[in-house]
Amino acid sequence: MRTSLVWFRRDLRLTDNPAWDAACAADRVVALFVVDPLPVGQAGRRRRDLLAAHLHALDAELRARGGGLLVLRGAPHEAVARAVAATGAGEVHVNADVSGYSVRRDAAVARALGEVSLTAHWGTLLRAPGTVLSAGTGQVHKVFTPFWKAWADTPLDPWPSPGDAAPWLPDDLGEDLPSPAGEPVMAGGEHAAHLRLAAWLEEVDGYPDRRDFPADATGTSHLSADLRFGTLSPRHVAEVVGGATKGRAGFVRQMAWRDWYAHLLAERPALARHAMKPEMDRIEWRNDPEELAAWQEGRTGYPVVDAGMRELAATGWMHNRVRMITASFLVKDLLVDWRLGEAHFRRELVDFEVSQNVGNWQWVAGTGPDSSPYFRIFNPVMQGRKFDATGEYVRRWVPELAELPDKALHAPWEAGPLELAAAGVELGTTYPAPLVDHSFARERTLAAYSLARGTAVEPFQGEG
Ligand SMILES: Cc1cc2nc3c(=O)[nH]c(=O)nc-3n(C[C@H](O)[C@H](O)[C@H](O)COP(=O)(O)OP(=O)(O)OC[C@H]3O[C@@H](n4cnc5c(N)ncnc54)[C@H](O)[C@@H]3O)c2cc1C
Repeated sequence: MRTSLVWFRRDLRLTDNPAWDAACAADRVVALFVVDPLPVGQAGRRRRDLLAAHLHALDAELRARGGGLLVLRGAPHEAVARAVAATGAGEVHVNADVSGYSVRRDAAVARALGEVSLTAHWGTLLRAPGTVLSAGTGQVHKVFTPFWKAWADTPLDPWPSPGDAAPWLPDDLGEDLPSPAGEPVMAGGEHAAHLRLAAWLEEVDGYPDRRDFPADATGTSHLSADLRFGTLSPRHVAEVVGGATKGRAGFVRQMAWRDWYAHLLAERPALARHAMKPEMDRIEWRNDPEELAAWQEGRTGYPVVDAGMRELAATGWMHNRVRMITASFLVKDLLVDWRLGEAHFRRELVDFEVSQNVGNWQWVAGTGPDSSPYFRIFNPVMQGRKFDATGEYVRRWVPELAELPDKALHAPWEAGPLELAAAGVELGTTYPAPLVDHSFARERTLAAYSLARGTAVEPFQGEG
């Protein structure tokens, strides 16, 4: 009887999962999840609860097929080796990941397994790292558009055909599934994820026109957490969306950003901690702890920034446009090191992935590949007025400003005393006065960046 083992990590599904399909070529297959204290300890409550909900659903799916999810707690190299020894599995299959931690972890597990093979597949990305390279440099493109063109021309890797092994859960092995501490932010499991994908297919054609407006709850897919936990296969998502309309093609192009950041981190693990442009590691950050706390808690006095940070705290998700605005405010208005912002998002986001979070933070900070230029500094008032013109988003998350008229909503300090009084707003009491003057902050940041780059301040280039 040939036994194989699948060690699930960020691929919590049985459909279109190359590690699972390959393992099912054996006679029976053990499905393992290791509760690894390190990543679990870094996650905020919402991500932990969502993980627990997905694990319960995966277990139920496996039980319906006659097996169940084997759960072990502890260091992965010990836990996987323990599971292999106890079940007699002759092979282990995983879907690989790109973070430095996951690469070191898998190497330690492979060593601990000795003669038993650990086979890595790429079920978490559309195209595997190393398959999309610049013909000129032999490396990952440092600019997105040429990467995307090469990416689109690269055939998808063939995946193993699903075998039909019987799932097997040994009786005397394993621990309890983790339980959610509160209500998960969405229903767990791949079935629920497929319903979310089906709902998105009704909206996707409007994507290019609607994706930038945070009040529009169905303007983007909200599928990032399903891609992050692997309750949806990226290949399946891209296939069912296809490219038949501008909206559909634009959406799949957006998924290429996800692959790009993953390929970059796989090639350059140092990106997780260091600016891709080395001179940018010389920036002298202010890192004022009180200002950092005000940003984290949505008390900066800039309504669209506060709305975004409160949405994150309440839901574990934030709209992409607002992620850019809040991140830019932290780095370029408060001159706080992007790594501190990245750490906060790392804890709070339900869709957190090292490669995506670091890549996007470096993009906003102007320290990374194909970044927004360092002198392009988002003006939070202009961004709010442009992308939340009716104020619906700010009113949803900053209700103490709800009665302000639209024109004052994104800059309450510009409202007259009568207007403020009529709306029940007292700046500094019911809502904070702005933490910093944006024009002053902008000049301060340009000076700090220029110093780091060793050049004079660049001429004014306009604001985002
Ligand atoms: C500072 C900052 C931090 C971020 N951290 C993360 C993170 O930890 N995890 C994460 O998945 N995304 C991150 N993003 C990217 C993006 O904001 C989210 O992927 C997106 O908001 C998720 O919502 P959605 O699924 O509705 O996106 P949609 O607009 O529906 O996009 C579809 C999918 O394409 C991918 N995608 C879209 N935009 C990006 C992008 N800019 N970079 C990479 N992939 C993208 C995502 O997988 C997303 O689910 C970050 C962006 C910023 C500015």
